[in-house]
Amino acid sequence: MSRRRQIYEGKAKILYEGPEPGTIIQYFKDDATAFNNQKKGTINGKGVLNNRISEHIFTLLGQIGVPTHFIRRLNMREQLVRQVEIVPIEVIVRNVAAGTLSKRLGIEEGTPLPRTILEYCYKDDALGDPMISDEHIACFGWASQEEMHEISDMAIRVNDFLSGLFAGIGIRLVDFKLEFGRVWENDFSRIILADEISPDGCRLWDMKSNEKLDKDRFRRDLGGEVEAYQEVARRLGLMPEDGGGPDTVLNLDEARKARAKD
Ligand code: 5GP
Repeated sequence: MSRRRQIYEGKAKILYEGPEPGTIIQYFKDDATAFNNQKKGTINGKGVLNNRISEHIFTLLGQIGVPTHFIRRLNMREQLVRQVEIVPIEVIVRNVAAGTLSKRLGIEEGTPLPRTILEYCYKDDALGDPMISDEHIACFGWASQEEMHEISDMAIRVNDFLSGLFAGIGIRLVDFKLEFGRVWENDFSRIILADEISPDGCRLWDMKSNEKLDKDRFRRDLGGEVEAYQEVARRLGLMPEDGGGPDTVLNLDEARKARAKD
């Protein structure tokens, strides 16, 4: 690991230079933070689970034609991705009122929204990722209008697909955060989906019990974080039915590959 050049260390991931130009290695940490770094902790095994869950979701999105940065998983905690120029905007997609939307507007958590809402936040930890509008994005040149059309269309497509995927396994996709990046090809740039999609950046509620299966368990001191992430992985078909530790996710995967070769 020491041979590789570290490019960036974030709250939940480290980025290393990849083996070929234009590639990056994403390393998933067990560290968890909330409320703009004011709450810090470790969720043992979270990195392994998020690596696997995000791989699965990005692969499925790629299969329905959503362009993503994902190339392949390398091992338990790392995946190879395309290097992008990150658009400094967090895109929040909301289907049900929760979190800061409920707080800001006084709408009870759990209230279904009559239509999906897209919100944008400026990616800046020092400022606490403040909410912005299209006007700010255009004014400060963070993305062009054309790029914002691509981004919002893609966010809606991702939401439609993921809402269905999770509904099929008894999970309500309440809200989630997406990040996008630019890739350059012959002087032209296009937008692709970047970062990760995992219970760290989604609100996932069990449809029957409304139990939270996401990072709100950490944010709100509910406990059972790893068990919740494991449950998401299990329902996605990434864990054996009889449970097991986070390592089992990958062992199962390797076992499947080995069986396929036989
Ligand atoms: P809220 O604005 O209600 O705090 O968050 C809305 C959704 O976006 C939640 O699913 C939350 O997990 C996700 N989200 C918002 N900001 C961040 C962030 O900085 N990091 C991560 N991991 N998720 C975020």
